[in-house]
This record gives sequence, C-alpha cells and structure tokens, in this order.
Amino acid sequence: MNNYILEFKDVWKTYHMGEEKINALAGLNLGLENGSFTAVMGPSGSGKSTFLHVAGILDMPDQGVFRINGKETSKLSVKEQARLRRDEIGFIFQRFNLMSQLTALENVMLPMLNEDSSKAREILDRMGLQGKYDKRPSQLSGGEQQRVAIARALINEPSIILADEPTGELDSKNAHSIMKVLRDLNQEDGVSIVVVTHNPTSAQVADHIIHMGDGQIVNGNYIS
Ligand code: ADP
Ligand code: MG
Repeated sequence: MNNYILEFKDVWKTYHMGEEKINALAGLNLGLENGSFTAVMGPSGSGKSTFLHVAGILDMPDQGVFRINGKETSKLSVKEQARLRRDEIGFIFQRFNLMSQLTALENVMLPMLNEDSSKAREILDRMGLQGKYDKRPSQLSGGEQQRVAIARALINEPSIILADEPTGELDSKNAHSIMKVLRDLNQEDGVSIVVVTHNPTSAQVADHIIHMGDGQIVNGNYIS
C-alpha cells in the first residue's frame, strides 16, 4: 500500500489554440509521498504550472488518473472538489496574489470559515510579521507580502502546499528566507511541499528535485 499525497498515472492535459493542440501534460507519471518536499524545475512551457494546477484541483486532467491523498479528483462533485481544495491545499504564487484593499490580517483570514482572528495572528507571528497585521500589501516588502501569502495558505492547515515560483520576484536573501520557511513547515509540521523554481540554490533546499520537459518528468525513479 503506497502513501502518496499526489499520484499521477498517465495524465494528459491538452490546450487548444485555434488549430494547434498543446500537450501541456503528456502522459505524466509521478508519485509523491506524504510528507515529502519536492522542487520542480524545467524550462518555460514544460508544463510545471499545469502540473500544479491539476495537483491543486484548479484544473482537471483530460486523460489519466490523478489522486490527492488517495482521492481521484475527477470522480468528485464540484462541491467535494472545492472542499478538498479548501481543506487540504495551500497555494502560493509568484506574484503573491494578495487583495490590495485588505490588510495583512484580512488577507490571511479570507479563506477562513469563522471570524476568529487569533489563529491568523498566530500564523502571521510565526511568519515574523508581528506588528504588521494592519498593513496593506503596498506597505509591505515583496518578502513580507509572500509571507502573508504563505500565512493565508496555512490558515486551514493544509496537508500540502503547492508553490509556483514563489521566490521568482524576490532577491536572493528573501528567496532563501522563504525557502527556509517552507523547509521548517515540512520538517516541523509535516506539510508536504511542491515548489516550482528556476533557482538551483532554492531547489537544493528540497529533499529531491524533479525535472519536467514536454509535459513529462525527465528524471527520477517515480511510479510509472
Ligand atoms: P510552465 O509553467 O512550465 O512554463 P505551463 O504549464 O504554463 O508551463 O504551460 C505548458 C504549455 O501549455 C505551454 O506551451 C503553454 O503555452 C500551454 N498553456 C498553458 N496554459 C494554457 C492555456 N490556458 N491555454 C493555452 N495554452 C496553455
Ligand atoms: Mg509556469
């Protein structure tokens, strides 16, 4: 019995651009174990973001089987998909994707189902943002904004964090500190992490590195 948090079996995702068909995922096979910390590298257009979108139930495969925590997402209702996304998955993006009119605290509380701000404050404190609760994104540095985004991703205690080039907009010092935050979440809290990065130094922080090319994994001994 395997213990995969993410499992892809011959997964295809095709986009249509007029006459042209683009196989963003072209028979992807991959199993990532619960509690793993994986960096994903590969050239632009190799399918890294599409992979994360399927993993995060933001998109469905056209063919093949995808399971998160043993659940095959295409067999779930839209409501069940939404619940799984909310309860199990934290997403972090390159451009932070914070709501500009909301404060740091309000951004973190956005995915919450209640109005109890104590947990949001606790997580912001852990991210080193005590005293910044009431700042809006424009009043924060890039590194601080990404920490708010990480706090928001953590608020519902996800079992996995999916990060799409989270350090792409940051200088090397901030990039390293964001990778360290992810490292700690993995080691101390057991959160599974998948992080797409172009930076080899960032990738080294993960336990293993997978390389994508043309919608497939091009290295590693993963399920097939
Ligand atoms: P990466 O993140 O590695 O740069 P993507 O997953 O974004 O790669 O894209 C893989 C391929 O699929 C690219 O050729 C891209 O142009 C194409 N693609 C991605 N999303 C769409 C979309 N929504 N519509 C059409 N083509 C897309
Ligand atoms: Mg991408």
